[in-house]
Amino acid sequence: MAKHKFKTEVSQLLKLIIHSLYSHKEIFLRELISNASDALDKLKYLTLTDEEFKKMHFEPRIEIEFDEDKSTLTVADNGIGMNSEDLDGQLGTIARSGTRSFLDQLTGDASKDANLIGQFGVGFYSVFMVADKVEVLTRKAGEEQAWLWSSTGEEAYTIKEAAREENGTTVTLHLNDEGSEYANRWQIEQLVKKYSDHIAFPIFLEYDQKSYEGEGDDKKEKIEHKRDQVNKASALWKRAKSDITEEEYHEFYKSIGHDNEDPLFYLHTQAEGTLQYTTLFFVPQHAPFDMYQADYEPGVKLYVKRVFITDDSKELMPTYLRFVRGVIDSDDLPLNVSREILQQNRVMSQIRNSSVKKLLGEFKNIAEKDPEKYQKFIEQYNRPLKEGLYSDFANRETLLELVRFKSSETEGYTSLAEYQERMKEEQKAIYYITGEDEETLRNSPLLEAYRKKGIEVLLMDDDIDEIVVPSIGKYGELELKSVNRTGADEELKSEDDKEKEEEVKPLLERIKKVLGDKVKDVVASSRLSDSPSCIVADENDPTVQMQQMLKAMGQKDVPEYQPILEVNPNHPIVNKLRDSQDESLLEDVSFLLLEQAMLVEGAELKKPADFVKRLNRILEKAV
Ligand code: ADP
Repeated sequence: MAKHKFKTEVSQLLKLIIHSLYSHKEIFLRELISNASDALDKLKYLTLTDEEFKKMHFEPRIEIEFDEDKSTLTVADNGIGMNSEDLDGQLGTIARSGTRSFLDQLTGDASKDANLIGQFGVGFYSVFMVADKVEVLTRKAGEEQAWLWSSTGEEAYTIKEAAREENGTTVTLHLNDEGSEYANRWQIEQLVKKYSDHIAFPIFLEYDQKSYEGEGDDKKEKIEHKRDQVNKASALWKRAKSDITEEEYHEFYKSIGHDNEDPLFYLHTQAEGTLQYTTLFFVPQHAPFDMYQADYEPGVKLYVKRVFITDDSKELMPTYLRFVRGVIDSDDLPLNVSREILQQNRVMSQIRNSSVKKLLGEFKNIAEKDPEKYQKFIEQYNRPLKEGLYSDFANRETLLELVRFKSSETEGYTSLAEYQERMKEEQKAIYYITGEDEETLRNSPLLEAYRKKGIEVLLMDDDIDEIVVPSIGKYGELELKSVNRTGADEELKSEDDKEKEEEVKPLLERIKKVLGDKVKDVVASSRLSDSPSCIVADENDPTVQMQQMLKAMGQKDVPEYQPILEVNPNHPIVNKLRDSQDESLLEDVSFLLLEQAMLVEGAELKKPADFVKRLNRILEKAV
């Protein structure tokens, strides 16, 4: 017998689950049934597509038994089963790439953490809320050897050889005091109805029924062994929409989405045209934990005529909609459609295209009809929608209506349409500024003159804005212009400004000479009012933030792009400097104009010691 230790993450998780999900401990049954159903799905697929399994007689079913006296509960299936490697790899670790990052997000604050754990599908491990010992007897389809996995949910579990008549898995819970109530016929029936009615395979419950025969002294107890089917066993998505209650949709979601929260919303489509297919999509209230990991688990399952085909294909949804969970069931795909050819399949790509259109249409619908819900949606999914802006050209116009931005003029999020509505008639472009965080952006000197003129600027503090927004180009007739770049201030210039520019030209030439290759150019600015200077990027160069982002992403040789230094011709410092002949003062001030502008933009100074020396020389003169 081999003894194994749980991966550290798992034992940490076990403790957390047991403490936090306690008020919902009944969900363990939903998790076991949903695992059994997945196991039946997998074997069914093999019996239809794999020569080795085609001859197999397969009547998929789930069996539940209990023993009130011994306080045990058993859930069995005749599905795919597991061998010892599967047991070790799948039950010994929570096979989710998000587990680690999930644990990192925990704060130690019990109420916040309970909320987080609520979002994290804990699956099989939920059994340890109601049992102090769990045994899994399992035999993989196509193999002879069966295995018994056993654990008390503490540090370790054991795996040993065992025997099982047919393939499949039997999970036996030795219920603890809190769980003993579940060794009960009515409890189980009620829980199956509530959580697992839609499971597409029959679920049978075995129980003993006591009855009495005869009267008085002749009265005899009679025990009958019974076996009833306790679920509807029809695929929920195939039922008429009008027959499905909101609660049924929600329970279905929780079971396929491994989530403990209701979905934010769902979309059920039964298409009856040249192509016949059904889709049932859900948007989780909280973005999946692994959403930003390269090995995220896609959330959409593909069925062909109710037969499960795959749940790990990234072809079913475009990457930017990877947060969507649900089911696609097609009548037109061949059952043995290989996962590999899905990509080139014409039927699949048509279903996918119209699914995307439907989903985006529904998002738009919610934005118009239920702003509060849309707000929640945006808080979770604004960023993936922005990814869509550069990856899904066909739906760009819709996506442009869906994404939201922060703004210099409003609190919270705003749409491009709302920006346009607020715009002054003579304004020629949509302005935006990119940078690290909202606070820095709101205080950026680059915004001063725009603010004075009442021109709204969108604040882009998402790291992907740098990449996405320039690629948008235009919203309708309006160009999107980055305030961080040259050329965006044309609109702010008056005749006066142009005169002023001429006047400071000689000074700017001198500053440029002093700064040498530290800058690309030194120009007069019309976008500054209180600050003496700012830096911007040249039209086609990456901004300071973008350069930093590239470095943070591990890109080594990020070339040095010199900024353009913009100087405020109306600022007292600049005016005084113009009349000064003190060359060493000019040198210090020139550098300080550049360095302070870099600091406000969140850029790093190469030689902070030099900066401090200069600053002190100037202070000495001033004091
Ligand atoms: P999830 O179902 O979210 O993957 P679980 O912790 O519930 O997470 O299960 C872990 C893995 O263990 C499953 O993905 C599956 O591979 C395996 N497993 C669990 N129950 C069964 C079962 N009844 N039959 C076959 N495999 C199972």
